[in-house]
Amino acid sequence: MGFTGRGTVWMNGTLVEWADAKIHVASHVIHYGSGVFEGIRCYDTPKGAAVMRLTPHIRRLCDSAKIYRMPVPYSMAELEAAALQTIRANGFRACYVRPIMYRGYGALGVTPGSCPVDTAVLVWEWGAYLGVAALENGVDVCISSWTRMAPNTFPSQAKASANYANAQLIRMEAETNGYHEGIALDVFGYVSEGSGENIFVVRDGVLYTPPLGGSILPGITRDSVITIAGDLGYRVEETFVPREMLYTADELFFVGTAVEITPIRSVDRITVGDGRRGPITHAIQPNSGTLEMMRPHSDWERESRLSNRYRQI
Ligand code: PMP
Repeated sequence: MGFTGRGTVWMNGTLVEWADAKIHVASHVIHYGSGVFEGIRCYDTPKGAAVMRLTPHIRRLCDSAKIYRMPVPYSMAELEAAALQTIRANGFRACYVRPIMYRGYGALGVTPGSCPVDTAVLVWEWGAYLGVAALENGVDVCISSWTRMAPNTFPSQAKASANYANAQLIRMEAETNGYHEGIALDVFGYVSEGSGENIFVVRDGVLYTPPLGGSILPGITRDSVITIAGDLGYRVEETFVPREMLYTADELFFVGTAVEITPIRSVDRITVGDGRRGPITHAIQPNSGTLEMMRPHSDWERESRLSNRYRQI
């Protein structure tokens, strides 16, 4: 992740210089992981810079805060405006947008007590998460020895900083062992998701993806892909996915804001399909191979029911 380290950061309603966007080391979030955040992409489209599905992202941010009893200091409209203002202020045409709400400086007991809920929005230029080549050639992944959190432990529906302790373990183990990414099983042994992305399995022309009860984050890209695949005439089933379905799949791919739509070419060194991006993965990747792959192209605009996916800057 390459920070440009420049520009401004929105903090509690004020734009401050990147270098000045600091918090105190006694902030609750540092000690107890009490933050919720979002990851959103802004694309350089033919109509100008546009944010992909801003409203569902901000809604998920507010849902995450609600789950953690965190009073949200702004309305959804204000949070959307803050994201747009920060992008505009930094003049990016394509960037990654990171709104974050966290328990700040005030008390250091586990109960957040008098800690304020602080809000920030950072933007930076971030290319292909697993590398540009991965979007076409696919990635090598493993099943992680780390399991996703069990239901009723850390809520997987919240995009909470604390959940990324689990994600870090999955990702670090995978990289240490020479893989691009790890896939975690849920506590029952079914496939859950990657450290930072949802997963789809293709077999005999049908798409399968783990259900919301599978300890997954309800991904916005997952939701888009379900709609787009349906619009393209494919059947999509949200169902429990046994591990072995990954090995026998015709195609596999990750989906997420950062990873976009990335084919998986092997799992545990077992080749998936013929070891390269399959036709259905390709059909769902609108303009594959570039950062702007998700920009609205004519097929999407004509066929997708996801109207107003983009918010012009
Ligand atoms: N799962 C996890 C754990 C993630 O961190 C992400 C990225 N936010 C996703 C799935 C994909 O979600 P989205 O498509 O909303 O980015």
